[in-house]
Amino acid sequence: MDSAHNKSKVVERILNEGRVKRHKFLPSGREIWSVVGSLGDQFVAEGQPFCTCGHFHFGVLGGKTESCIHLDAVRAAKREHSYEMLEIEDADYGRFLFLLTRSVHAQFGSK
Ligand SMILES: [Zn+2]
Repeated sequence: MDSAHNKSKVVERILNEGRVKRHKFLPSGREIWSVVGSLGDQFVAEGQPFCTCGHFHFGVLGGKTESCIHLDAVRAAKREHSYEMLEIEDADYGRFLFLLTRSVHAQFGSK
């Protein structure tokens, strides 16, 4: 299908541009994935599944679609081992979450 084809093209571009990031906290080993989307950073929890983008909130939680482009991108990145790995100290966890949620709030606020 055409839309599915376009979607995989977008995912491919996200991977090629290195916009999937795996943040690994040390020494706990806790991991957070994010994708730099068109509006800013999106926090993605693939196992949940969960994403902070508007499409996920209104489309997926509203039962209209099954996934968003960021979830698809993280899944593809894991499969193809194509992501940027960042190691962060556990001590910086709170600050990291603060910056990420601030970025997410800014996107919703601007709508
Ligand atoms: Zn998303």
